[in-house]
Amino acid sequence: MTVATPPTPLTAWGRLHLALMPDYNRKATAYWWAMVLLGVAALLHALQGVAALPAAAQLQVAAGVAIAMLAGFFPVGIPRSKSSFAAGEIFVFLLLLLHGPAAATLAGGAETLVGSLRTSKRWTSRLVSPAISAVAMFVAGSLLQALRDALQRYGLNNEGLIVVATMLFSLLFFMLNTLLVSTVLRLKRNEPLQISDWLSVFGWVGIAFAGSGAVASLLYLTYRQSGLGVLMAVLPVMAMLLATLHYYNRQREAHASMLETAAHAAGQAAQAAAEVALREAETAARHLQELQASERRFHSAFTHASIGMTLLTFEGRILQSNAALRGLLGVEEDAMRGCGFSSFVVDTDVSALDAQLVRVHEREFETFALELRLRRADGAEVWAAVHCSFFSEPGSTTPCLILQVQDISARRQAEARLHQLAFNDTLTGLPNRRQFHEHLTRAVERCQVDPAQRFAVMFLDFDRFKLINDSLGHSAGDEFLVQAAQCIRARLRPQDIVARLGGDEFAILVQHFENEHEVTALAERLLMALRGPFRVVDTDLNTSASIGITTSALGYEAPEDVLRDADTAMYKAKANGKARYAMFDVGLHAEVAQRLRLEGDLRGALADGQIAVAYQPLFDLATERLTGFEALARWTHPEHGPIGPDLFIPIAEESGLIVPLTDFVLNRSCRQLRQWQLVDASFEGLTMQVNLSSKDLGQTGLVERVTRAIMKAGLQPRHLTLELTENILMERLETALPILERLRDLGVGLSVDDFGTGYSSLAHLSILPIDSLKVDRSFVRNLRAGSKESTVVRAIVHLGNSLGKHVVAEGIETASQFALLREMGCQTGQGFHLSRPLAVEAVDQLLQDRLAVEAHIHVRAVCDTPALLH
Ligand code: C2E
Ligand code: CA
Ligand code: CA
Repeated sequence: MTVATPPTPLTAWGRLHLALMPDYNRKATAYWWAMVLLGVAALLHALQGVAALPAAAQLQVAAGVAIAMLAGFFPVGIPRSKSSFAAGEIFVFLLLLLHGPAAATLAGGAETLVGSLRTSKRWTSRLVSPAISAVAMFVAGSLLQALRDALQRYGLNNEGLIVVATMLFSLLFFMLNTLLVSTVLRLKRNEPLQISDWLSVFGWVGIAFAGSGAVASLLYLTYRQSGLGVLMAVLPVMAMLLATLHYYNRQREAHASMLETAAHAAGQAAQAAAEVALREAETAARHLQELQASERRFHSAFTHASIGMTLLTFEGRILQSNAALRGLLGVEEDAMRGCGFSSFVVDTDVSALDAQLVRVHEREFETFALELRLRRADGAEVWAAVHCSFFSEPGSTTPCLILQVQDISARRQAEARLHQLAFNDTLTGLPNRRQFHEHLTRAVERCQVDPAQRFAVMFLDFDRFKLINDSLGHSAGDEFLVQAAQCIRARLRPQDIVARLGGDEFAILVQHFENEHEVTALAERLLMALRGPFRVVDTDLNTSASIGITTSALGYEAPEDVLRDADTAMYKAKANGKARYAMFDVGLHAEVAQRLRLEGDLRGALADGQIAVAYQPLFDLATERLTGFEALARWTHPEHGPIGPDLFIPIAEESGLIVPLTDFVLNRSCRQLRQWQLVDASFEGLTMQVNLSSKDLGQTGLVERVTRAIMKAGLQPRHLTLELTENILMERLETALPILERLRDLGVGLSVDDFGTGYSSLAHLSILPIDSLKVDRSFVRNLRAGSKESTVVRAIVHLGNSLGKHVVAEGIETASQFALLREMGCQTGQGFHLSRPLAVEAVDQLLQDRLAVEAHIHVRAVCDTPALLH
């Protein structure tokens, strides 16, 4: 158990001590007091001694003390030492030699008092220093006095000894003084006395004191020999010397302090600089840390990036690559390092990459992006987006290139697929219209630059494709188109381009040929090949195509014009009888232009009454009786005169004018027939055949239009027969059938025109609600006994009869044809041999004639009627 010792209460004395001498311990305090008291005692003793001196000596002592005190204000610094010595010592020692230790003690004490007042702020020091000085001087001075007395006693009072003795005793004084002063410090610090305290005496300060002693002894000797006068003369000189020395030192100190200030300033500047340097160093260190961090981040990013990355030299050599890239290429790191990156690039893409690398190397630009194909280790190709940029690795000064490699194969495939869809025909895989247009554009441009770069375009259209589609189904139509596409492609050279424009239309771009003959020869080969047969859904199909051709010789500027002219030529080929080619020429151009003009004219023709109807009589072949008429449209152009229906009907069909034209013919002929029927009762059975176009069948309201025409004319439906070509019927079988059925329900007769030229099969014939077949005039034209045509016609007549259909022959131009058809059992016929198409007036005349003939010759057949009608 610890018991706290209560602090000893301080006495009044203790409190005073603490207040005045806080740093003095007990020993130091005792020593201080001892010294002060000893000093006071020494001084008192000295005063006593001086008082005993004669008045003149006292005056000298007083002067010496004054000089010593004055010198205390002007201490002379000791070089390379913080200490200084008061020049007053010289006078103190001089007084010692002149008047003994008492005078010296007084002077020494006084001089030290001045010095301590000047150098110290502590009153303890200010008191103890002069006291110690007095004590030391008293002791040393008394010893010197004793020595001098002894020397005198032994007759050794010579000058040399005085000087040496004074020097020794001045040193002794100094040593003693120093010892006593340093004891105060040692005691305060509670330290033992150190030998160094003594040794310091042998420094500059000691020498200075010894010097002072020597000077003092020399002055003393001078005084002894020459009297006070010399001393009086010397003293001011000395004073000046010492003063000069003092001020010189002061100046030096000032200079030194200035230097010190400068040094200090320099030091501060240096410090500031050092601080800046430190801050910079810190910043640099921070940067370094950041750099290292960024380096670590970069390496981490580089290594773990999901995108392929590689560092390359400017020559394209691989320095480093990450796992993603190695995975992409399917190679090991070792296999990549040092390799040229190009070695992983597909040959055809290498030049593109190298070109960019060279430009980066030449500092043309700093980055580039490229899409190219890379070759994996397993040989597979990968599409990659490559982005290259300058790269300086954190902490490295040599730049290199960084390549980011992204696998874009999926995107490329999707793009390729989209491109395939956008630029190719999905059915046949051939280029589509869009791609063909691009190829053609380039061909036109090339030819414009260099006309020797000839090209030709073929426009190919199958003659009866719709029929295949309708009769065998759409998938069969598709199958046929695929085979046809292959057939065409197989006959072209690699540089030629065949495209499917749509439906059964194909376009062929033929390039690099010597002369036009090569192109027409190719067209002929194609026509031959496309005849088939094509095996489609177990059926051998024989087809034909029509080709229109145009060439760059016409100096085209736009691809659209090329295709348009090839198309026109193709229509020309069709018009010329199909299954052939036609070359576009300037004449055709004129034809087209005329056609366009006619179309414009046709619009006004109906309203202007330029359209009329001609009526070609039909006869019962067996009786040669007039049975009816076929209504045929006639156009008399105000400038060009009569224009044949073969020319204007297609124009009317294309322009949509066919509908009003059909209505016109239908209404006019029905009305006309009714008028003729009313001429005589024998004419009441006459019929009217009206031609319909395919557009009429596509038009809704046909049945209503026909009904209206009949009703307006007051005609019985059975006296009207509508003619539809075989091809129209077949092409629109699905839409035609219900309409035809309604027409038959109406009671209107239906006839298949141009029978034998189309595709209708016997099966179709039996289901169609038709009444009659009109054998095409091409068969009739070549009708001779035993000819192929006669077999066909005979079969048709036979077929028609067996199906209960009325068979009509058209285009009977000769009596033999007439006879043959009658012999075959063909019921009705028309043709130039019987009658040309007639104007209304001519028919009126015909009817009048017939009435007259019948009135006079009752039984006789009108065998000479055809001749009459020519
Ligand atoms: P189509 O229906 O076959 O008409 C018969 C064509 O044969 C008529 O020619 C007639 O003049 C011609 N013809 C008559 N007998 C003979 C002959 O002995 N020898 C020769 N070589 N030809 C003969 P057209 O009037 O020039 O009519 C041509 C075609 O124009 C017609 O052929 C028909 O398809 C169409 N067509 C005429 N008028 C109309 C019409 O009003 N509407 C429609 N949609 N088509 C019409
Ligand atoms: Ca006809
Ligand atoms: Ca016909």
